[in-house]
Amino acid sequence: MAPITQRLQGKVAIITGGASGIGAATAKLFVEHGAKVIVADVQDEIGQSFCKALGPNDTVLYARCDVTLDSDVKDVVDMAVSKFGRLDIMYNNAGIVGAVDPTTLGSDDENFKRVFEVNVYGAFLGAKHAARVMIPTKKGVILFTASVASVIAGESPHAYTVSKHAVVGLMKNLCVELGQHGIRVNCISPGAITTPLLNNALKIDKSVVDGVLRASSVLKGGLIEVEDIAEAVVYLSSDESRFVSGVNLVVDGGYSTTNLSFTSALKNAMT
Ligand code: NAD
Repeated sequence: MAPITQRLQGKVAIITGGASGIGAATAKLFVEHGAKVIVADVQDEIGQSFCKALGPNDTVLYARCDVTLDSDVKDVVDMAVSKFGRLDIMYNNAGIVGAVDPTTLGSDDENFKRVFEVNVYGAFLGAKHAARVMIPTKKGVILFTASVASVIAGESPHAYTVSKHAVVGLMKNLCVELGQHGIRVNCISPGAITTPLLNNALKIDKSVVDGVLRASSVLKGGLIEVEDIAEAVVYLSSDESRFVSGVNLVVDGGYSTTNLSFTSALKNAMT
């Protein structure tokens, strides 16, 4: 769908984890809506060629930024100010699933810490450095990608589920602290989408995963696409949501509103 108006005209954004999946789709839509974008990621080759294809370097830039390193995050925020004059939108989207071992006893401490380091500490660093340059301007938008795992339990590894709950907690605390400076803070929580993150975690064929997602979806008529999440991010980034703050916007077609295991067990019992 071509944008009717450029809803982010003139805004400057950083998207962490912007070289792939949800982040890449958002970077593309942001550019279509007139934003200047810095794609911050650790996949340098992919990120660079993606940005080159997306637009000229006075509009889209790639920056190597490991979100777990304070100095990398500081540098990318400073880069937004030096290259584009300011930072309006900080989208803290980079994330990992970590090892897919659902058991408590099988959990590996280093894996647990790493998931937290990327998903929670990395998100905190993004918010911290964004706030540093947004507070003097008395405006700004800080966003996080949490997950449907922030509102339901039992379907993801412990470290991932807890990290995404923590991201929502961080968002709420920041919303309260930064509201006095005119800064809005929100989360987007996608349902499952077959990006590299999910495919690598499940290690089964994409078509099989898509089939499972289709069968388990509450809202029929298609699968959630990365573009659906990007649309929600554009809304939360634009002035159209100027009084929306402290929200965890779940984009899952209603999946987390129900638990169909009773219905499904009942159906099995009756056949
Ligand atoms: P993806 O793997 O396609 O993209 C994630 C990006 O983050 C990659 O480009 C990766 O290089 C980058 N990244 C990882 N560690 C990083 C680090 N330390 N510093 C900088 N960048 C780093 O996956 P995606 O599905 O697009 O995931 C984006 C976000 O969406 C994640 O936070 C994920 O938890 C969340 N999410 C995904 C799903 C899903 O089903 N795909 C569902 C809910 C939430």
